[in-house]
Amino acid sequence: MSNTQITRPLFDQIMVPNYAPLEMIPVRGEGSRVWDQQNNEYIDLTGGIAVNALGHAHPELIQALTEQAQKIWHVSNIYTNEPVLILAQKLVDNTFAEKVFFANSGAEANEAALKLARRVAFDKFGIDKTEIIAFYQGFHGRTFFTVTAGGQASYSDGFGPKPADITHLEYNDLSALEKVISEKTCAVILEPLQGEGGVLPITPAFAQGVRALCDKYNALMIFDEVQTGMGRTGQLFAYMGLGIIPDVVTSAKALGAGFPIAAMLTKACFAEHFTVGTHGTTFGGNPLACAVAGKAFDLINTEAMLNGVKHKEQLIRQHLQAINEEFSVFKEIRGAGLLLGAVLNEQYQDQAKAFFLESAKQGLLILVAGANVLRFAPALNISDDLIDQAMLKLKQAVKNIVNKDT
Ligand SMILES: *Cc1c(COP(=O)(O)O)cnc(C)c1O
Repeated sequence: MSNTQITRPLFDQIMVPNYAPLEMIPVRGEGSRVWDQQNNEYIDLTGGIAVNALGHAHPELIQALTEQAQKIWHVSNIYTNEPVLILAQKLVDNTFAEKVFFANSGAEANEAALKLARRVAFDKFGIDKTEIIAFYQGFHGRTFFTVTAGGQASYSDGFGPKPADITHLEYNDLSALEKVISEKTCAVILEPLQGEGGVLPITPAFAQGVRALCDKYNALMIFDEVQTGMGRTGQLFAYMGLGIIPDVVTSAKALGAGFPIAAMLTKACFAEHFTVGTHGTTFGGNPLACAVAGKAFDLINTEAMLNGVKHKEQLIRQHLQAINEEFSVFKEIRGAGLLLGAVLNEQYQDQAKAFFLESAKQGLLILVAGANVLRFAPALNISDDLIDQAMLKLKQAVKNIVNKDT
């Protein structure tokens, strides 16, 4: 098959139609720039949906991957391996966790967390403690258990009987949780900032209230940091800025900086309930993935990188506010660190996709979160200069849409 035959229409011919990708096909990336098949250049503020924390083709990650590729790729969990132990040690040394379980995706890390919570409750309190409390607009992945825990019924409807005993409540509403949580609750699962659900931050009072209620009812507090983890909010993990310690934290997206890997972090007293044979995965803890993630961890977990995230947050916020002063399109700018959302005002309801498409025409890649929020999740190491250039393109896209409307 020659290169010229590999075009976007081929997607519609041979791919399962569960995605609707843009017309252009990216073929190459460097830092926060991407080029398509026609060699058009784009600035990337998507970070592969909060995955490419260090941009594209980072030389030290390439080196970590190729060095490991020449040693050993895969051994299965019949053996352990050096990269997995090195990475686990870093996670244990730098977080609340005493134990780590590796998987391949955010959904799988959350699947492990939910199964662990059910197993801990079963072992310690018997068969009745099975309720999982989760929140509307939350997102935890697409396996049937995690998508059912997610707060959008439309994602889990139409696949037959759902995993049972999952209750949904309003996010950031502590009194609702107080009324519902009980001795039957084995876990409360939530994001420290709802990413897919609209870039909605948690209130510290809610995070602390969930912690207290989980303690009171012996329920595991599961913090889904698949999107917020690994420096995204300016902390290594978002829980570190909230004055609480969860019982389980899940990480994926940026953990491998573009190589698929996920982790479930927990305390020894919970981990011990996953005895030999209770849970597992073929690829989890794969040497290639762990070698890349170990290097990414070192590059992200520095004061300079994390402070840079907070600085760049301010820079993007200033630009977005300036754009809004000129064109009055946003109701609110929200989020934390380099996970920011610009919420469209009444006049532009349900038009996030239009802003996304017009931005792409200007050579700018952004994300949406639902129909009303433009989402920005650039690489943590994007330069100030490139942010300025990106915001000029966004301004032009906004201008075009506003002018079209009048
Ligand atoms: C992306 C995401 C997931 C799912 O991760 P996958 O790797 O797609 O399975 C789970 N939770 C949150 C908060 C996410 O943002």
